[in-house]
Amino acid sequence: MKTVLITHEDCLDHVTPPGHPEQVARMDAVWRALDGLDLTRVTAPMAARDDVLRCHPVDYLDALEKAAPEEGWVSLDADTHMSRGSLAAAWRGAGGAVRAVDMVLGGEARNAFVAMRPPGHHAETATAMGFCFLGNVAIAAKHALEHHGLSRVAIVDFDVHHGNGTQDLVESDPRILFCSTHQSPLYPGTGAASETGVADNVVNVPLPEGTKGAAFRAEVEAKVLTRVADFAPELILISAGFDAHADDPLAGLSLVEGDFAWITEALCDLAADLCHGRVVSCLEGGYDLEALGRSAAAHVTVLMEHANG
Ligand SMILES: [Zn+2]
Repeated sequence: MKTVLITHEDCLDHVTPPGHPEQVARMDAVWRALDGLDLTRVTAPMAARDDVLRCHPVDYLDALEKAAPEEGWVSLDADTHMSRGSLAAAWRGAGGAVRAVDMVLGGEARNAFVAMRPPGHHAETATAMGFCFLGNVAIAAKHALEHHGLSRVAIVDFDVHHGNGTQDLVESDPRILFCSTHQSPLYPGTGAASETGVADNVVNVPLPEGTKGAAFRAEVEAKVLTRVADFAPELILISAGFDAHADDPLAGLSLVEGDFAWITEALCDLAADLCHGRVVSCLEGGYDLEALGRSAAAHVTVLMEHANG
């Protein structure tokens, strides 16, 4: 089997103001980097409303629809801007994550990478923030539990920012283990190690500015991989943000492509042991276009090496 790449050109219609780091060019950078790879390419569908409603209330979805502009931008907070095409892109981001889960659990693929923007891991139950509107990974996790009948799903988020939205959406559900490595202090300010969820199902690993690959790997081994193994998930979801890269303009960790390949390898190895290799990875951040492309390619190359395992 091949690794599935799920994406959609609607991502290009989510336009942010000039100079905004979460820009259309990110998508081109990722697509270009993955261009020559032997992947099964699938178009991201719009998410089904019932899938999104497991995470976000109808009032919030209605408010987003009402706020969407015909032209220009509407700012939901200082960082989060909506253009005419933003909601379609967001709904395809969630739909792509759900489709990836369907394909991996349905045996059509061993693993998948969902290359979409806007990202999702900062979107809380009823609050768009941090460039995010819908909690793609949380929506995918709940779909795996409720639609496919799984009992345990693990989410590992290695974006440089804490996945406060994912945590908000899953911390009260003991069927979901959420592990996040992130720089601290940094936006959004949450993600202390003391935040552990309703059933010790949240694992936060704050890292100081300047953390390099060796220290990152040691922390992941000690605090994330052991917990995922103990949890024995039936599916591993990844929030794959590449903004912990040393070249990233928004943060101060010092990872390189090899570190993203390493954690991908570690999670694929765990998945092979625990859950038939089932891994679904969703793009989150990553704002240096060159580093983003190289990192995404390193990540997906490891997924591909495990797709036939
Ligand atoms: Zn980020």
